[in-house]
Amino acid sequence: SLRLSQMTGWFSFSLMGIYASLGEVEDGMKTLTPRVRLENAAGAGDLRVEQGEIALRDVSFAYGREIGGVSDVDLVVRPGEKLGIVGASGAGKSTLVALLLRLYDPEEGHLEIDGQDLRSVTQESLRQQIGMVTQETAMFNRSARDNILYGRPDASEAEMIAAAQKAEAHDFILTLRDHEGREGYAAYLGERGVKLSGGQRQRIALARAILKDAPILVLDEATSALDSEVEAAIQTALERVMEGKTVLAIAHRLSTISQMDRIIVLDQGRIVEQGTHDELLVLGGLYARYWERQSGGFIGSDAAEAAE
Ligand code: ADP
Ligand code: MG
Repeated sequence: SLRLSQMTGWFSFSLMGIYASLGEVEDGMKTLTPRVRLENAAGAGDLRVEQGEIALRDVSFAYGREIGGVSDVDLVVRPGEKLGIVGASGAGKSTLVALLLRLYDPEEGHLEIDGQDLRSVTQESLRQQIGMVTQETAMFNRSARDNILYGRPDASEAEMIAAAQKAEAHDFILTLRDHEGREGYAAYLGERGVKLSGGQRQRIALARAILKDAPILVLDEATSALDSEVEAAIQTALERVMEGKTVLAIAHRLSTISQMDRIIVLDQGRIVEQGTHDELLVLGGLYARYWERQSGGFIGSDAAEAAE
């Protein structure tokens, strides 16, 4: 068993190595990778998550010269709350996620998880507690199996397959065949492997997140349409994985987000509206306009611009 644990250790270490060599800070945040990687504070401890409460205390952040970013965001996401984030392209949705992952520190204010300032904990422990599901998730040049195991390198084969099944990824994985003839879970993904569709990437990311089972979950839905059968299956899988977790969901499809406990609307980096779907419709502001104009469709670049 010593040998086994050594092997598991090596395996997880080598996956981390590949991950680091990609130069990415978080598997789901391909497009958010900052130029400067923040250091852990001297004497930083591990983040301990018991409730899963996220607090942004008067947070302001700009990428430079006061363009972009977010301003005066004061927000507490209760343990287990499902929060939807909507807003036009460029409103600051991804920036909020980047701050939560501590890819950047805010210029003003601070963020806490269960009362612990993110600047006071190690980044490794922070990212261990956050699962990410996006269609931009990086795939490593490794097998489908290894790509899912990245969520929890010491998981068993049975646990890995169960996660793929829950994520509605199992069936399509069985049909994969890379150009070197490796099939199914052995087929290589990534740039030199099988090219996956956005929906397939999302399901691999979901399988990873299911295996990781972190108390905080971030979902960043892509604007591209999936075929409706796959979409319904993913929706069901997502609902299952959200259970009991604190969730931040960026959604472009308002139909996805209308069921959330609370929705915040961002406009030029500020929270301009918040409430449930019904409350926001009654309010008759930006959200209501999105809902009316897209009528359950997308807030993507086109639709959002049309709504402005
Ligand atoms: P959203 O996810 O809502 O589309 P973002 O959070 O990605 O919006 O971006 C918010 C604003 O910050 C935009 O004006 C965008 O141009 C700017 N921005 C985002 N990322 C960067 C970056 N890495 N460098 C400079 N500006 C950025
Ligand atoms: Mg974004």
